[in-house]
Amino acid sequence: MTTQLTNVQVRDIEALVHPYTPLHRVREIGPLVLDRGKGVYVYDTQGKEYIEGMSGLWCAGLGFSDEEMVEAGTEQLKRLPYYHLFGAKGYEVAIELAEKLKEIAPVPISKVLYSSSGSEANDTQIKLAWYYNNALGRPDKKKIISRVKGYHGVTVMSASLTGLPNNHIDFDLPVPRVLHADCPHHYRFGLEGETEEAFVARLAANLRALIEKEGPETIAAFIAEPIMGAGGVIVPPEGYFAAIQPIFEEHDILMIGDEVITGFGRTGEWFGSTAVGYKPHTISVAKQLTASYAPLSAVMLPQFMVDALESESAKIGVFGHGYTYGGHPLGCALGVKAIEIYQKRDILGRVRGLAPLFAARIAKLAEHPLIGDVRVKGLVGGVELVADKKTKRPFDPKQGVGAKIVGFLQARGAILRAIGDTIALCPPMVISEAELNELFDRLEKALDDGEAMVTKDGLR
Ligand code: PMP
Repeated sequence: MTTQLTNVQVRDIEALVHPYTPLHRVREIGPLVLDRGKGVYVYDTQGKEYIEGMSGLWCAGLGFSDEEMVEAGTEQLKRLPYYHLFGAKGYEVAIELAEKLKEIAPVPISKVLYSSSGSEANDTQIKLAWYYNNALGRPDKKKIISRVKGYHGVTVMSASLTGLPNNHIDFDLPVPRVLHADCPHHYRFGLEGETEEAFVARLAANLRALIEKEGPETIAAFIAEPIMGAGGVIVPPEGYFAAIQPIFEEHDILMIGDEVITGFGRTGEWFGSTAVGYKPHTISVAKQLTASYAPLSAVMLPQFMVDALESESAKIGVFGHGYTYGGHPLGCALGVKAIEIYQKRDILGRVRGLAPLFAARIAKLAEHPLIGDVRVKGLVGGVELVADKKTKRPFDPKQGVGAKIVGFLQARGAILRAIGDTIALCPPMVISEAELNELFDRLEKALDDGEAMVTKDGLR
């Protein structure tokens, strides 16, 4: 958007390095500087209103400036604004939140270890998988299997787990010990004429072959999002987890569930694992844990891992891991309140109630000349743009068609995210039917803007 920049936009450009941004083009794009939010809307410094169709980064599930959340945070800041859990210190909200997590967990959970971000939680998972195998006297069982297009964060280890080129190139990643298995996206990776069932069987066979080639005695863990989010909203085919899970069980490989996006109602279940039939041993949560009113993440651990950590700590003298802000009291208080709200406002029921409308509006987008594939589960979805619907040929990534369409959408007063040429949708779970319809109406218009641009500029 090359209109005149405002003063605050100029200050932004001069002061900030923006994550996940073409840094050489910030001035040309024109930063969107936000001032406030209310419900599903955010407002820029000029007062323009936008429907926030991504819940920020898949995280603000209760929308913006919820009074009860603001109150809970304020109360905690007045009571105990900071403390930590090092050296057997504690505070009650940390305990209360852990107890709630144990109650709603989809698999048996014994204890909770806090951190601040999804990346930190996943980094912690890998350190724990290593520590666990050292405790069991298996020093060679250390490799981690993640998947192409999986997203697990951007710290050195979590970015290594992430299976996306932009997180590796020129960052000298991935580090050793990380193996990337197939992505379960039938539309993109299914062979000509291959059924979903045959695709799943092939992926399971490939996985088994990978484990056998590497040696199961060298593989510590598998990490997976129930539904891939930042890799392009990829919903695995029916039977995928049921097919691969026994392979890990057979080879005594830990299964880690990355529920950073899918946790806390996003799919209509408390956890996405339940929605796709995944039964991980341990789970990472963040984002909607606090509805993102403060940073907080957690690793939820089964008894057998806690036992191993305790026995290893006894040998060494201390469990040498922890973050200054891990389990910050503000985050814990907001986590307790968010879960209370999810329960008393029946947010899971809301998501289930809205899901058919959401799915129907997404299905309708498949008719658009620019859309090749649509994916949806609960209140998360993705639509994939293609240059040619018949051959599935994508646009040249350099043309940035997805980014341009979300730019058109922004001009029309709604915010979504382009992941390459997939446009992701992840609206706040408190969105109304009317607001959801409005979001889709605006997206349809933005897609028409996109079609006009593609035709005019000859981008096919
Ligand atoms: N795991 C998943 C599934 C995610 O979607 C993300 C963030 N989008 C992360 C981990 C990393 O979380 P953070 O950005 O809080 O480090």
